[in-house]
Amino acid sequence: MEDLKSIIRNIPDFPKKGILFKDITTLLADAKSFQRMVDLLSHRYIGEKIDKVVGVEARGFIIGAALAYKLGAGIVLVRKPGKLPSETFKKTYDLEYGTDTLEIHTDAIKKGERILIADDLLATGGTMGAVVDMVKELGGEIVDCCFMAELEFLEGKKKLPEGKCFSLLKF
Ligand code: 5GP
Repeated sequence: MEDLKSIIRNIPDFPKKGILFKDITTLLADAKSFQRMVDLLSHRYIGEKIDKVVGVEARGFIIGAALAYKLGAGIVLVRKPGKLPSETFKKTYDLEYGTDTLEIHTDAIKKGERILIADDLLATGGTMGAVVDMVKELGGEIVDCCFMAELEFLEGKKKLPEGKCFSLLKF
């Protein structure tokens, strides 16, 4: 896994001073690394009867769509406010400074459907925690929350349901 980790680029002071941003675009742009990352992540869920993968805007769409294709599942979009055209369910959650809001179509998930949630990176867990609440609110059964990478020192896992978090690359 070290080869996949090393291809992720560190960008200091992005999006603001003091943050060391993990730039995953370098991994996505490398054909072999992208394929390997999708194969390794999807392999975990083969046989799990996933109905839908929920992808979180925007990098989660890329990983979510690739996983959905591999698993023969549908892909559902969780988006920033004002982007989804039909009736939505909204969730506002706390950030370090201020709040953020995400939306999902109310009819995107049916009661009892088995859901895998995907995003590129787990940091504080605020984003994924909000998405978990949204999926539960619509009646989805969460199989797992999966990430390409995790910043372990931020302990985002603690905001997610026990035992329902997997990240391929740990920093
Ligand atoms: P959290 O809510 O866990 O603090 O932040 C996770 C969300 O912010 C994810 O949607 C992720 O895309 C984005 N994010 C936060 N930090 C980073 C980072 O260093 N690199 C990347 N690629 N995304 C990040």
